[in-house]
Amino acid sequence: MIFLNVEQYQFVKKQAKKVLNTYTSSKDQNIIQAVQVLVQEEINEKLTFRDIEEQLVLQPIFDLKTKEQLELFLEKIKEFVEPFKSPTDNQIKKLFPKDKKVKLPNMENFDLKEISYLSWLDYGTNRKYIVYYEEGILRGVRGEYRHSEKQGICTVCNQHAKVGLLLVSKNGTQLGNYTKKGNYICENSDTCNKALSEFSRLQNFVTNLR
Ligand SMILES: [Zn+2]
Repeated sequence: MIFLNVEQYQFVKKQAKKVLNTYTSSKDQNIIQAVQVLVQEEINEKLTFRDIEEQLVLQPIFDLKTKEQLELFLEKIKEFVEPFKSPTDNQIKKLFPKDKKVKLPNMENFDLKEISYLSWLDYGTNRKYIVYYEEGILRGVRGEYRHSEKQGICTVCNQHAKVGLLLVSKNGTQLGNYTKKGNYICENSDTCNKALSEFSRLQNFVTNLR
């Protein structure tokens, strides 16, 4: 029984943490209940359940009172997550025909149930690669990544984190001429993926770079 994609799983994690944080920080039953109702509403808005069994999997979220319970719950629901489909080396190479030598990612470094998109940096060329699925079709974008020392809001996941500028060159122009449409994105794509509970944000991000 698989019924959560990674984006939804990250969303449920956020909600679970919200429930626990409220419980540990507030003694007011009214507040605790109000948050439970809110979480219930957000879950209903975001997820569709095919049957009662799927709903029951998530039910313990409302009774989370300790960190241990939270961790057990998250471990449990991870069983129901559809992992990111690992692309082959050839599929990746085909996405970036202009790069004679694409630096391939080491897939062992990724927990496929934690990522909605695949990203890695080629330290030699400073190119950051982003690979994702759009309606089941594998797509990719890559650009020059400019590290910055500052913290900022990531355009993809919307969290405040260490970000850098991803600059993608326009079609037909040489590398070195960049559009001004570059955008800030987390340096660490692991934490970015974990914070990404709205996949449409990533789609908007890459659409903007085209
Ligand atoms: Zn991010």
